[in-house]
Amino acid sequence: APITVRDLAEGLGKKPNELIGLLMTMNIFAAINQVLDVELVEKICERHGVVFVRERREKGRDRDRGGQPGQENRIPLSVRPHRKVGRPPVVVFMGHVDHGKTSLQDYIRHSHVTSGEAGGITQHIGASVATVGDQTITFLDTPGHEAFTAMRARGANATDIAVLVVAADDGVMPQTVEAINHAKAANLPIVVAMNKMDLPAANPDKVLLGLQQHGITPRDWGGETEVLPVSAHTGVGINELLEQILLEAEMLELNADPDAPFEGLVIEAQMETGMGPTAHVLVRNGTLKLNDAVICGQCYGRVRALIDSQGRRVQKASPSMPVKVMGLSSVPNAGDKILACANEREARVLAEEAMQAARQGNLSVERMVTLDDMFSLLAKEEKPELPIILKTDVRGSLEAITDCIAKLKSDRISAHILHSGVGEISENDVVLAAASKAVILGFHVRVMPGVNRFAKQKGVDVRLYSIIYELLQEVEKAMRGRLQPDI
Ligand code: GDP
Repeated sequence: APITVRDLAEGLGKKPNELIGLLMTMNIFAAINQVLDVELVEKICERHGVVFVRERREKGRDRDRGGQPGQENRIPLSVRPHRKVGRPPVVVFMGHVDHGKTSLQDYIRHSHVTSGEAGGITQHIGASVATVGDQTITFLDTPGHEAFTAMRARGANATDIAVLVVAADDGVMPQTVEAINHAKAANLPIVVAMNKMDLPAANPDKVLLGLQQHGITPRDWGGETEVLPVSAHTGVGINELLEQILLEAEMLELNADPDAPFEGLVIEAQMETGMGPTAHVLVRNGTLKLNDAVICGQCYGRVRALIDSQGRRVQKASPSMPVKVMGLSSVPNAGDKILACANEREARVLAEEAMQAARQGNLSVERMVTLDDMFSLLAKEEKPELPIILKTDVRGSLEAITDCIAKLKSDRISAHILHSGVGEISENDVVLAAASKAVILGFHVRVMPGVNRFAKQKGVDVRLYSIIYELLQEVEKAMRGRLQPDI
């Protein structure tokens, strides 16, 4: 039913008159039976530390009852105290190929992950849970920073902390820089694991210098970032690395509400013989329980079994826990959100709606962000920054253009180079731009084959220049906003 002043007061445990008084202070003069706007209800609930649970109505049932059109949008109210409980951090390893991401995770799996039941096989579920003292850390399997950002582009932000792996003998390499920029674009705190310290060729100073040159100042040099010397071969420093991750997590004050409606993220999904569609799910909020009805993109179902990272069948999964879910109607996509529903019927209706929307192409159209409308978009933000990805032909021009862009002044918007590099514009650049709503500027470079079409699909503006002045002029114009007359 729609929410009246009376309903809300009851939900908040207040007298109706108290609420009416409160509303008056917000310049809203409402009667006791007046229906309140959903957004307003949400705002008031938030202020009072209660969660407002929207339960979608089943369309079918409304129709059977001869309900009015529009009635399906009515939202029954249920409010309850908001409970905040600390949750384990979710961590992802990033870094240059061969620097030891896999080896480090394998080492942690062997030393800090208790193996499954006697005779049981540790399940591969796209993530693992390491135990450190009485705390745990969830490690997402690393598919590379491209895949990480592709997930983020879909609004699937699952990670809390990035562990940047740098081999001490090799130092900061091109993919290390990419990983740094992807992690920064996602606003993730970075902990550096300086790996392969057992090698005679290990050169910590070279690593620290390389990090410094790419905007990461090590703690030993007066900066913010902890750099921990480790070895995946000998195990040296791994405990310290895990403890640092927990410390970092503590500062983030990560929490979730185990009583909230379940919300999770599909990390991987597949069809398995004898099991049907299975999805590896990371719980973001609430608790996923056996027999829960769920909707997941265009799939739906009832949870028939939950299997944890140690291969055990469990009854429920709490925030930050990865689990394998069985009982879905089909195989969802990685990055899909999975949500609890009131019942399987509601889940099916919502899945059918999603399917229909997808057929009509409603979901595939992504909003194009161009240099032209950047200003009006950014003007709404508090501290507006124009995010740019810059690719050039040679290092000299890259440095020159970066310097000039830094000097461009506007009282409203500053330009921010999210990622830059020498070379052609790649699919990777587009993925990062899409996730960060950035524009791509190329100077004397080509776009790799097929990437132009990909950029169009993703709604990313790619602009190519051969004259520095023209590039700068366009950036400056974007910063000042076309809408304003040039003075
Ligand atoms: P990834 O590509 O980042 O996942 O790197 P891998 O974990 O596959 O490691 C690449 C190579 O480096 C492998 O041959 C590993 O055995 C080796 N390696 C990884 N960590 C260490 C280490 O701490 N010390 C030494 N000496 N070799 C390592």
